[in-house]
Amino acid sequence: MKKVLIILLLLLTSSTASAVSEITINDVKKPQSAILFIVDGFGSSYYYPELTPTALDGSELSKALAPNLTFGTRIIDVKTPHPVTGIAHSVIVTGYSDANEEIVGYPDATIYDITRQHGYVNLAVMETGDFSNMRQEQDIILFVENNSLDKPSISIQAKSSPAGMYELMYEWKMKMPSYLNNISGVKRYSAYNKWSIDAANAVANAMIKKHPDQKFLLTVNVGEIDGGGHNLGDDNYVSLIEDLDRDFYPLYKTARDNNIALILTADHGMSFATKNARRGGHSSGKYTSKIESLRIPLVILSPNAAPGLVSGEYGQEDIAPTLLSVLDLPDNLQYADGKAINIKNYASIFVKADSKYTVSLWNSGRKLSETSDSELIFAGLPLNTSYTLKAKGSSNYEEQVSLDSDKQFNFKNANSGLNTRSIVAIILILAVIIGGIFVIKKIRD
Ligand SMILES: [Zn+2]
Repeated sequence: MKKVLIILLLLLTSSTASAVSEITINDVKKPQSAILFIVDGFGSSYYYPELTPTALDGSELSKALAPNLTFGTRIIDVKTPHPVTGIAHSVIVTGYSDANEEIVGYPDATIYDITRQHGYVNLAVMETGDFSNMRQEQDIILFVENNSLDKPSISIQAKSSPAGMYELMYEWKMKMPSYLNNISGVKRYSAYNKWSIDAANAVANAMIKKHPDQKFLLTVNVGEIDGGGHNLGDDNYVSLIEDLDRDFYPLYKTARDNNIALILTADHGMSFATKNARRGGHSSGKYTSKIESLRIPLVILSPNAAPGLVSGEYGQEDIAPTLLSVLDLPDNLQYADGKAINIKNYASIFVKADSKYTVSLWNSGRKLSETSDSELIFAGLPLNTSYTLKAKGSSNYEEQVSLDSDKQFNFKNANSGLNTRSIVAIILILAVIIGGIFVIKKIRD
């Protein structure tokens, strides 16, 4: 019964299927698609030029030279609230600082729900961080099932794959042994990492060539920077980051040359007890509150983002709203407490309205646009300008908007009651409950 009530609640809180009108006020350069590149266990302390990593005993640790990983817009201070793989991945995709793997499965909880509603396909190549609800969010995912560097077992899970993608991922599933053939130690960790980068690059290129008009969000997870930190010591951890820097470049080039936003980040960092410690950690006892475990990179390449350094303190929960803002998608994440970091060189206004309402945008007494729809996106507005937003229907709204960043408005009548979808859901669920009681009664009789 409790389960039925939870499902009922979820159905009632999920948003209705809606139509979206996008109105481009000024022509702006925005990305066509996006790649979210998550490196497991990659602490920014170990390669950001501004930072110096220290061990638990206070000794200074060495750093990686990784110029390819410092492109575009780089946010200096970003921390994870929970340096634990599954939870931190959940924070990244929900924008919620208290997220967990279960919440990822709730309706409208993740970036993938928003991208899907706006015509994107969600593709993924993941070595770690690919728990069940994360896989469910993808249209197709190539993933390492057992997280084993010795004998990786690779699977593909697909719901509605774009043509040719399953075959391509199958090809890459079969290529893993050739990457690992007869190599061990640090080189094996690097080769394993390179496999996911190369596979992701092949997926991105195939989408660009075979489905040029199809927007996509490609999530990538690289697994063994974390593994190296846990098992190989701080010096090898830094070598692995330098290998990543080298192997990452082709994917960066694909994004740059094809108008794809690239968001590089990590679930958590890594800490070491002393210099030359052979084992590191991030989630247990002494490691969990260390800044090197918490501080993660956030580096963004996007045609609409101003390159350079961004100071100020941010949290991992800000990543999802920032990704949506860069893609000009509304932050309709149900549980998010993160906020978009202001990196876009224009602003957009996102409006949810009763589709019977007429929504208009005005500037200095001049009407720029007038539309009716359940969701409207006014994109490409210059920063630091002012507009008036009007909605006319059974209620009238008027808002003065000063654009220092993206803005959201909801012009839905708060007392409009249950919508058709909710009523249908209630009737269906009641039918199931009554039917169930009837069946149980019959069995007992
Ligand atoms: Zn991790």
